[in-house]
Amino acid sequence: MEVAACTDKGLVRPINEDSYRISVDQSLFVLSDGMGGAAKGEVASAMAVEAVIRSLREKGADGFPKLFTSSAEPSNGTDSLVRAIEMANREIHEHGMRNPECRGMGSTIVAACISGTRLSLAHVGDSRAYLFRADVLQQLTSDHSLVAEQVRRGLMSHQQAAASELQSLLTRALGTEESVSVDADEIELFPGDSLLLCSDGLTRMVPENEIAAILTQIPSVRIAAERLVSRANEHGGQDNITVIVIRLNKPRGWFAKFIPWCSSNLV
Ligand code: CA
Repeated sequence: MEVAACTDKGLVRPINEDSYRISVDQSLFVLSDGMGGAAKGEVASAMAVEAVIRSLREKGADGFPKLFTSSAEPSNGTDSLVRAIEMANREIHEHGMRNPECRGMGSTIVAACISGTRLSLAHVGDSRAYLFRADVLQQLTSDHSLVAEQVRRGLMSHQQAAASELQSLLTRALGTEESVSVDADEIELFPGDSLLLCSDGLTRMVPENEIAAILTQIPSVRIAAERLVSRANEHGGQDNITVIVIRLNKPRGWFAKFIPWCSSNLV
């Protein structure tokens, strides 16, 4: 597996309120987009990623297990990911309640954990996860935003949503309420798959066909991550931009190893 991340404040915003963390030993990747401006969005996003990593590194106060211990089924891992995000929500909310300068702060979160061939994914807000498989980019998450909700209900087209001034209105966020509903999913990964986690500073600036073209054309995850961010800036850089690119390499000779009949047919 190869992984790279890149973040930039963009060309308009005075500071970067996005945060991300990569925990290689846990195969855990977390990205958060802080909101609130004066209400310390950068504090909320940093708290969110730290809380998720910390919760999953050690047994939490409520005794939930580490992700994917040898005895745990993958579904336990996804459940732990959700509970870690719920814990992050409580921490951010309580911090906001105790500190008047942080009142109302919040963030998005998207978190991915890979165990073997199984991906656990959880998110709140409009930061996204994409699967890039066989040159096709597929959005794995559904935005918790007003315009996305309107599109799902058939009240607004994708084009209208992309042009709307209400794009940044979220229907769910971390820290703004005492509790939060976390969306989670599990999928099977294959060698050659790539995952992209990103904040809306990428997806509101760079069309999906351009994102797919960059992932197709650039084999290096580090250069691809940097290119995605620079492309968002070339399109205006209206918001902070953060990306994490994860690529599952094809082991040498994996066809021969996993599909013996295939190699013999090719000889
Ligand atoms: Ca943003």
